[in-house]
Amino acid sequence: MRLHWHRSDLRLVDNRGLAAAAGAEGADPAPGDGPALGLFVFDDAVLDHASPPRVAYMLDAVDSLRESYRDHGGDLLLRRGDPTSVLPAVADAHDATGVVWNRAYSGLGRERDDAVRAALDDAGVPVAAYHDALHHEPGSITTNAGEPYSVYSYFWKKWRDREKADPYPAPGTGALATPDDPGDLPTAADLGFDSPEADVPAAGHAAARERLDEFLAGDVYDYADRRDYPADRCTSRLSVHLRWGTIGVREVSAAIREAKADAPSEDARESVEEFRGELAWREFYHHVLNFNPEVVTENYKEYEEEIEWRDDPDEIAAWKAGETGYPIVDAGMRQLKQEAYMHNRVRMIVASFLTKDLCCDWRHGYAHFRERLVDHNTANDNGGWQWAASTGTDAQPYFRIFNPMTQGERYDPAAEYIKRYVPELEGVNADDIHSWHELGLSERNRLAPDYPHPIVDHGDRREEALAMFKRARGEDPEAD
Ligand SMILES: Cc1cc2nc3c(=O)[nH]c(=O)nc-3n(C[C@H](O)[C@H](O)[C@H](O)COP(=O)(O)OP(=O)(O)OC[C@H]3O[C@@H](n4cnc5c(N)ncnc54)[C@H](O)[C@@H]3O)c2cc1C
Repeated sequence: MRLHWHRSDLRLVDNRGLAAAAGAEGADPAPGDGPALGLFVFDDAVLDHASPPRVAYMLDAVDSLRESYRDHGGDLLLRRGDPTSVLPAVADAHDATGVVWNRAYSGLGRERDDAVRAALDDAGVPVAAYHDALHHEPGSITTNAGEPYSVYSYFWKKWRDREKADPYPAPGTGALATPDDPGDLPTAADLGFDSPEADVPAAGHAAARERLDEFLAGDVYDYADRRDYPADRCTSRLSVHLRWGTIGVREVSAAIREAKADAPSEDARESVEEFRGELAWREFYHHVLNFNPEVVTENYKEYEEEIEWRDDPDEIAAWKAGETGYPIVDAGMRQLKQEAYMHNRVRMIVASFLTKDLCCDWRHGYAHFRERLVDHNTANDNGGWQWAASTGTDAQPYFRIFNPMTQGERYDPAAEYIKRYVPELEGVNADDIHSWHELGLSERNRLAPDYPHPIVDHGDRREEALAMFKRARGEDPEAD
C-alpha cells in the first residue's frame, strides 16, 4: 500500500501525488505499490497559525474529501499530531511500501517536509514529493541569467507562453484503500477554535468546480472591465479553493482554455487572458516566497535606513474595526469581518491606507489578514502587503499613495459597495459619501450621526508618509 499525505491538495481530481500513489494511467511513477491510502493530519504546528474561518473551511473540505474517497470505494484516514511521528507510525501500521505528497513552497512547509522525509528515511520507507500546486515550479521560470524574477511583467511573458500540463486523472476503481480505523472528523472546538464570526463559503471540489463553471459561463468575458468594481461581484472567488487545493490548477486552466476558445469576441478573449494574468500573479508570489522565505517577517526591498513606522494602537484598532471615517476603507474592513474575504481593489485600498495614511508597519495588516481571511496564503498575502507598503518585489513606488476618497469615487461611484457594508451611510447620497472628509462636522453629524469622522487628514498623512519613506531612503524629506 502507498500512502498519500494530503495537505493543501484536498481533492481526488487533478492531484498529481495522489494519481501517482494510485497508479493512475499516465501518472508519475511512485515508490512502493498500490492501492493508495489517503491521509490527512491535523498538525498542531499548522493549527498554531490557523484561525476560525480557515479551520471552518478546512474541516468542511476534509469532510468533502472523505465523501469523495467513500464514493470511490476507499476512505480517508484522519489523524492528529506531529507529522514527523504520525507518518512513520501510519506507514508502519499499514505496511506502507511508499509515501507520497505534493510539495510545499513556504519556508515552514519545506522545513516540515524535510523533517518528515528524514523520519521516514529513518524508518526505511521511500518517499516521493511532486510538484503540483502551481503550473510552473519555482526555479523553472527564470531570467536569462537563471535568476528568479523580481518583476512580474517579465515573469508573466514567460509564464503565459509556457505550455500548461493537462489535469491528472482521478484514481480508478479499486485504486483507493479503506483503512480499518479511519478516525473521526474533529469539530472546530476539538481543535481549539471557535466558530467563525464570518460566513465561510462551501468547501470541497464540487463547490469549487461549480464556482469555476459559473464564472466561466459569463463573468470571465468582461472580467477586464468589471474586476475592479467591488459592488459588481464579478471575480471568480476561487482564491479559497486554490489555497486549499480543492481544485487543481491544471483543471482550472483546461476550463479556461475552453472558455477562451468559446469567447464571443476579441475583447472577451483578451478578458480571459487578463484573468490568466491573475493566476500568474499567484504563481509569481509563490516563486518569490520559495526563494525568499524571510519575506514572511522582513521587507523584501532594502531601504538604507529603518522605516520609522508610526504604529499608533488607536488608529490600528479603528482600521481593524472599519471605523476610520473613510467609507471605502471601512466597507472593506467590514466585508473582511463579515465574509472572511475582501475584494482585491479594496484590499489594495485598505492596505495603502494602513501603511501610508496611518504610516503603520505592513506586518500589523498582514497579521490581521492572516487571522481573518479564509483565503489567506502566505505567498499572496505577504506579496499583496509588501506591494502596497512599497517594501516588496515589484512593489508600488513609495510615492504612489492611493487617495481613499477618489478610489471610492472611481471604483464604487454609486457607493453601492460602501452602503452594503456600512449601514450608517444608507441614507447618504454618493457625492456626500465620496467627499465625507470635506464636509463640516455638523453636516456629517446631520447626515450620518453614527458614522465616524475621518480619524486622520489624508493630505497631511500623505506628506508624512512621503517624508517617512524619504528618510528611509537616506534622502532629505524636505527636498522635492
Ligand atoms: C493586501 C493584499 C492581501 C492579499 N491576500 C491574499 C491572500 O491571502 N490570498 C489570496 O489568494 N490572495 C490575496 N490577495 C490577492 C487578491 O486580492 C485575491 O487573490 C483576490 O481578491 C481573490 O478573489 P478572487 O478569487 O475572486 O480573485 P480573481 O480576481 O478571480 O483572481 C483569480 C485568482 O488569481 C489569484 N490572484 C488574483 N489577484 C491576485 C494578486 N493580486 N496576487 C496574487 N494572486 C492573485 C488568486 O488565486 C485568485 O483566486 C491579496 C491582495 C492584497 C492587495
